[in-house]
Amino acid sequence: MKDRLRRWYQDGRHLRFEVFADWLPVPDCRVTLDPQVTDRWGIPSARVRLFSHPRNREAAAWLADRGADVLRLLGARNVRTYAGNAASTNLVAGTCRFGKDPATSVLDRDCRVHDADNVYVTDGSFMPTGGSVPYTWTIYANAFRVADRIVEALGRGAR
Ligand SMILES: Cc1cc2nc3c(=O)[nH]c(=O)nc-3n(C[C@H](O)[C@H](O)[C@H](O)COP(=O)(O)OP(=O)(O)OC[C@H]3O[C@@H](n4cnc5c(N)ncnc54)[C@H](O)[C@@H]3O)c2cc1C
Repeated sequence: MKDRLRRWYQDGRHLRFEVFADWLPVPDCRVTLDPQVTDRWGIPSARVRLFSHPRNREAAAWLADRGADVLRLLGARNVRTYAGNAASTNLVAGTCRFGKDPATSVLDRDCRVHDADNVYVTDGSFMPTGGSVPYTWTIYANAFRVADRIVEALGRGAR
């Protein structure tokens, strides 16, 4: 046991990495208000529904296989891969997505609520999908872009 632990943790050289495939938008993946459960102020609780599109796993498995191919070509041994299909709970998007059509989106292209002149949303919810990358830098970049639009709008005399 001690020898094996030493070999694994001390002598072994391991390379472990994680890659992301995109999570495709699924219409039934959404936040609604619970008709029964309320918080202590009587406000309806959020009801979160998470689903994963079957294509997500196919894409992830394809990527994992290509990664394993590359590692083997580099001389790696004992290559193991795993392609998960669980709905992500830490990279969430799409609950307030932007778009041209108020029937299918909450925000316009500048992340302003379609039917409210002075409400902008710049968190991760504007993206229908993260586009296969972790989202945070996209959220930052978009927030700066929207800030410029707000400054422009204020310059035109908007409230
Ligand atoms: C464990 C973990 C690891 C991650 N790793 C990475 C990574 O490596 N790379 C990457 O790019 N992303 C990563 N992410 C994802 C990243 O953290 C999120 O995509 C990003 O923080 C989302 O930003 P957001 O502004 O949409 O929401 P959040 O950062 O969640 O901000 C929402 C804010 O709203 C506040 N809030 C909620 N309800 C209310 C309310 N009723 N009133 C007032 N305020 C409220 C919350 O307190 C919070 O401050 C990770 C997330 C987790 C959990």
